[in-house]
Amino acid sequence: MPARITVRPARASARLSSRQLTFRLSGLLGAASVPLAAAAIAASGAGGTGGTVVGAPLQVSSAPTARLRPASFSSADTVHARLGGTGAADQAVRQQGDKQRAAAAASTTQAASARIAAARSDAARASRNRARAALQQAEQGYTRPTSGPLTQGYGSHPGIDLAPPYGTPVVAAHAGVVTFAGWQGGYGLHVEVTQADGYLTTYSHLSATYAGVGQLVQAGTPVGAVGTTGYSTGPHLHFEVMLPGRIHTDPAAWLIAHGAAV
Ligand SMILES: [Zn+2]
Repeated sequence: MPARITVRPARASARLSSRQLTFRLSGLLGAASVPLAAAAIAASGAGGTGGTVVGAPLQVSSAPTARLRPASFSSADTVHARLGGTGAADQAVRQQGDKQRAAAAASTTQAASARIAAARSDAARASRNRARAALQQAEQGYTRPTSGPLTQGYGSHPGIDLAPPYGTPVVAAHAGVVTFAGWQGGYGLHVEVTQADGYLTTYSHLSATYAGVGQLVQAGTPVGAVGTTGYSTGPHLHFEVMLPGRIHTDPAAWLIAHGAAV
């Protein structure tokens, strides 16, 4: 009568030596059936997994028959080889595999680190480029200091008058450092910006000042609001431009020469 036998070693037994396996199978089947059973186990997918034997139920006769010929291999070592081996060579293979996996992981980590470093470098470079571009734009930028019509030009007096509504923001026409902010006689509330090239721009009759002495400003930075302080007959900005040495020049021509609309 066929014996239904399931060979399912626990995980801890996954490294059964071939002799242990032979012994166990011998106890169940008798010595004559051992090579056959071992071959069936090997064929069930155990091979190549380092000796793990978790097979499907095996249908094995309890006694050899004509159909169930003894397998051609005869020694436990052959069974061992068919099962994938559990000896020193196999361990060396596993260790080699571990080393390769570790090397691959290290390589992956190195590659990731390199990518992160490259990304950081790119970000830093982009940041520097943006800062440089902003600085260049600030150095190169010129802008009309406020809105409103030009109500009095250069020549009849040392600046130009721009007359938007009271309180309209007044901005620096070009980058520089604030070298005066406060009351200045007939100029009323007054702000002066000294540029890197030594030119000076001034903003007068303000209703408020938004910039303090020593503050760095760019073209477009608010420095005050349109008012009518000092000698003034109505809200407007009196805007002057001076060359080094406080030599007046036409602010409208100066703005136009630097690409700003007037
Ligand atoms: Zn004026």
